[in-house]
Amino acid sequence: MAWSLLIKNGSVVDGSGAPAAMVDVAVEGDRIAAVGPNLAGDAARTVDARGLIVAPGFIDIHSHSDLVYDQCPSAESKVRQGVTTEVVGMCGFSPAPVGAGRAGLVREWAGGIGGQLPIDWESFPQYLEHVRRLGPSVNVAQFVGHGALRLATVGADNRPATPEEQAAMERLLAEAMDAGAFGFSTGLVYAPSVYGSTEELIALAKSTAERGGLYFSHIRGEAATLEPAIAEAIRIGAEGRVPVQISHVKAAGRENWGKMDRALRMIDAARSRGVDVAGDVYPYPAGSTKMDNLLPSWMHDGGIARLLERLADPAARQRAMQDCLVDNERWRTGSGAVGWDEIMIATCSRPELAGLHLAELARRTGKAPAEAMMDLVLDERAGVSMISFSQSEENVATVLAYAHSMIGSDSLSLHAGSGPHPGKPHPRSYGTFPRVLGVYCREKQLFPWETAVHKMTGMPAARLRLKDRGLVRPRFAADLALFDPTTVSDPATFPDPHRYPSGIPYVVVNGHLVVDGSRFNAVPAGRLLTPRG
Ligand SMILES: [Zn+2]
Repeated sequence: MAWSLLIKNGSVVDGSGAPAAMVDVAVEGDRIAAVGPNLAGDAARTVDARGLIVAPGFIDIHSHSDLVYDQCPSAESKVRQGVTTEVVGMCGFSPAPVGAGRAGLVREWAGGIGGQLPIDWESFPQYLEHVRRLGPSVNVAQFVGHGALRLATVGADNRPATPEEQAAMERLLAEAMDAGAFGFSTGLVYAPSVYGSTEELIALAKSTAERGGLYFSHIRGEAATLEPAIAEAIRIGAEGRVPVQISHVKAAGRENWGKMDRALRMIDAARSRGVDVAGDVYPYPAGSTKMDNLLPSWMHDGGIARLLERLADPAARQRAMQDCLVDNERWRTGSGAVGWDEIMIATCSRPELAGLHLAELARRTGKAPAEAMMDLVLDERAGVSMISFSQSEENVATVLAYAHSMIGSDSLSLHAGSGPHPGKPHPRSYGTFPRVLGVYCREKQLFPWETAVHKMTGMPAARLRLKDRGLVRPRFAADLALFDPTTVSDPATFPDPHRYPSGIPYVVVNGHLVVDGSRFNAVPAGRLLTPRG
């Protein structure tokens, strides 16, 4: 018997949650060929995994890398974490479909989070062809963004869809599902997804249910309205008859931290009524998005050009301050109230500003913080991203430990140095998975290795109904992550984010050793996954 790869002497944590076992793993081509003790046979390559845990490759159940694959097809900051599959098209954002003549709208919209989409496609199938040609180093499971569906039909306006536009959205979603999408996502605090009603989303859910679609929800509020927002997502799942994933479960703003337990009990109650609800989480008490999302949704009505006009209009600024300023100290949006020293500039065209908090920017410019923020968004033409420190460490641990949560980075895949996202992006792009393993599993002992790995592999694979990924089993895809449980760690920090993890010496994608000791082989090892396998 000759195998392409033989992994010997490792401790296999197979992704199912079952206890670790000292067995060898043999790979032939892109498949796992055998799993068992003391496998004997010739192999083109043998890896001695003594002292290492051998796990299925991690599935990042919530990623935004579809906005940067053109700039970074190697997905290096993800693969070095052990990630072999990314679930993209999240929070209502996806690069397709694009309405005729509307490429500019989509390009602007992606640009705010650092993506530079070439957009030589219109339909979703044409876009998937583009991804296949790009050949990322990770597997890709693509969702359709509700924001993209709206941009392609209604446009960027704040109004209900007409019956014709609703039908057009359902048609575009069906076309995407037939081409290989896994379902649709919303970003119900972001324009234009925020302009969609619950009824619009239930109708989309029903239309995708016929094709086995999933609904992944960035809900309509993660702060004061956390509970009604979760109730809405559950209702869309129940009435639309689709499984619901609550994305990056959190309670933002300290006045809302106490709501987390009630929110999780709502998910439990829905599950006990037979609604298939689960969630995902990243292991940091800070989130990141475009800074223009600090501005109320009425300012976004009509798209970025209209937003910039309003930012230049003193009366509109005044109204935004009336809507959002709390006691002159804090700024409140659907994503929670944050202090000016809790919002950090992550990326913009002026590298010297990256890492500054808005309170500091205000001091330096001699402006009121709200004015400094609005000037920055205007000067950068909305191309500025931020990090907001709005969550509690206790809640992060609570959600990580919750029985129905899995791990999603909510980030872009980057590469260090002159990567596609300079400045100081959220360190989760580099550290999500090793942080769960090193900090929450080894140091805090929140759960055993088997549970941590299950939340990164078997559980998300079951969510996506992948039949041959997420477990170390014969005939499954040869996606594997090998890490050292004594050293795995995430050196990436908020001040110094572009740092690769350590203690993950081997990562195998469809049989290719993409991470091989100190070498990173940026080969097009990934596949475009579809719900039909
Ligand atoms: Zn989101």
